[in-house]
Amino acid sequence: MPVPVCQMLWPTELRSEQETEANARRIVACVNACAGFSTETLELLAAIGGMQNKMVATYTVAKQKDQLLAFANDILDSWPDGGSLDGGDIQEYAVKHGLLRPTVVHEPCNSDDPDQSCRCAEYCMPDEFSEGVMCYRRADALKGGAA
Ligand SMILES: [Zn+2]
Repeated sequence: MPVPVCQMLWPTELRSEQETEANARRIVACVNACAGFSTETLELLAAIGGMQNKMVATYTVAKQKDQLLAFANDILDSWPDGGSLDGGDIQEYAVKHGLLRPTVVHEPCNSDDPDQSCRCAEYCMPDEFSEGVMCYRRADALKGGAA
């Protein structure tokens, strides 16, 4: 792999030698990180917030894929028999893999709200909410978003 070399030929009295070297090192790192990208692609990346945003999105999607894959494999461990898998098992696997987040509520959830998607109002008695009821919220991986 070619290694770009960057020389800062005119350090001024406004910059220390260490700052000049740090700038040169950063420029070389940027050029190496962008190896293989066309200038047009780099301009597009810059227009959408730069590579850091893409790296975060890529990491998030990869993490969500791993969560969903692990969940699917736990569910498929019951296959082909599968007769003993129930809603409690699915909930346990979803919590285990970070797809459902337990949360305590003191009022019934709104089952029409996709962010809540909980039916505690049907399953719990009104007085249980004063002590707190364990409910579950869908994680981002189940909402179709990358973040
Ligand atoms: Zn609830």
